[in-house]
Amino acid sequence: VEQYLVRIDEHRHLNAFTEVYADEARQQADVVDQKLSAGTAGRLAGMVIGIKDVLSYTGHSVRAGSRILDNFTAQFTATAVQRLLDEDVIIIGRQNCDEFAMGSSNENSAFGPVRNAADPNRVPGGSSGGSAVAVQAGLCLASIGSDTGGSVRQPAAFCGVVGLKPTYGRISRWGLIAYASSFDCIGPIANTVDDAALLLEVMAGADDFDSTVSNQPVAAYSQARLSGRDAETRPLRIAYLRGGLESSGVDASIREATQGKIDALQMAGHTVEPVELSLLKYLLPTYYILTTAEASSNLSRFDGVRYGYRDTSASDLLSLYKRSRTEGFGAEVRKRILLGTFALSASYYDAYYTKAQQVRRLIREETERLFEQYDFLLSPTTPSPAFRLGEKTGQGSGDDPLQMYLADIFTVQANVVGYPAISVPNGTDVNGLPIGLQLMARPFAEEALVALAKSL
Ligand code: GLN
Repeated sequence: VEQYLVRIDEHRHLNAFTEVYADEARQQADVVDQKLSAGTAGRLAGMVIGIKDVLSYTGHSVRAGSRILDNFTAQFTATAVQRLLDEDVIIIGRQNCDEFAMGSSNENSAFGPVRNAADPNRVPGGSSGGSAVAVQAGLCLASIGSDTGGSVRQPAAFCGVVGLKPTYGRISRWGLIAYASSFDCIGPIANTVDDAALLLEVMAGADDFDSTVSNQPVAAYSQARLSGRDAETRPLRIAYLRGGLESSGVDASIREATQGKIDALQMAGHTVEPVELSLLKYLLPTYYILTTAEASSNLSRFDGVRYGYRDTSASDLLSLYKRSRTEGFGAEVRKRILLGTFALSASYYDAYYTKAQQVRRLIREETERLFEQYDFLLSPTTPSPAFRLGEKTGQGSGDDPLQMYLADIFTVQANVVGYPAISVPNGTDVNGLPIGLQLMARPFAEEALVALAKSL
């Protein structure tokens, strides 16, 4: 704990933590120490982690990177966080993120941007940017983030660490501040696949407080291994998106690194084949229509009355709502609430919301067909390595405000269909910027996913 506290102090400029629980972490460490001597310590004894600022932890502030939750204190602890605490994890602090987990660069936080430790002029990715940088810079051993369209995997890729998004419903969402409820997943970010798998194992499983969580038994993910003879006796069938790899939108360095892994897997005896996803171009529109619709509904509870920030100059109830929400939410969140409200409005509901739900089903069916033939889908995690701060905010004249959304092209599919996916480090580009490789597997095939990821 002391070592991490020193490192956190030395790396303040990265802005990874919004709050450090120094004294509390020391106390937790003392308790764990006693339990270790008594032989009663849990499975995570000594593991020092940080949690993204969207996870409730009773008695602690939780802000979702937003002004609207000013002075708000969590009244209960997220199931996932409680399970980690029950196994004696030590929580060292709360980590900076994009406001309400909306973003791919961690530039949308009310607490200021997070910086990539590989190059502080570059973004760490988002929205779990603080969580990824904290692991990258050794400010804690692992982090817990959330992934609605890539927010665990994309920053993990930009920071050269491992990010795991489980199957939808594998980990209870109780206590996770909602962005888009039918997409949101809690997931670990760690230095190694083993650490991520162990955290998943502890957090996963049935929970009375989340009706969408799965009752499927939790496997010993941290023990999952490909046996040395698997490649000969049971070669894996792995697909990769031909279009995704050959597209001009993908950096040459990323294409090469991904091709390198494809070659290595083939050499090991596995079948790795190119496939096309005919609905690829509908992934992002489907994702953004449905998530903004869900977000506009989820965020309607922040009305200036019940939580946190309240405008004090309002003269009546309507202006209280309007002013509190206008001042409390940042630009990106306001934009998405407007988009989502539009998609759900009576005259456009069928044209946008219903249509996007139908396309979501088609994407799921196409993905299911793909996974009848293949065990895994491999791709780069992102089309480019970490970009510069300000480069994709769309605020310069002539800038395309949708550019940032393209950073999620490879990650959103897993959330649209609810499948598990992992990003593992796959070398660096010429500038030393980390590159990530993504693997996606069938629902609840986390054991196989972890085993293959570990072998890479
Ligand atoms: N970047 C995506 C978005 O802004 C994903 C965010 C996430 O996974 N929370 O919606």
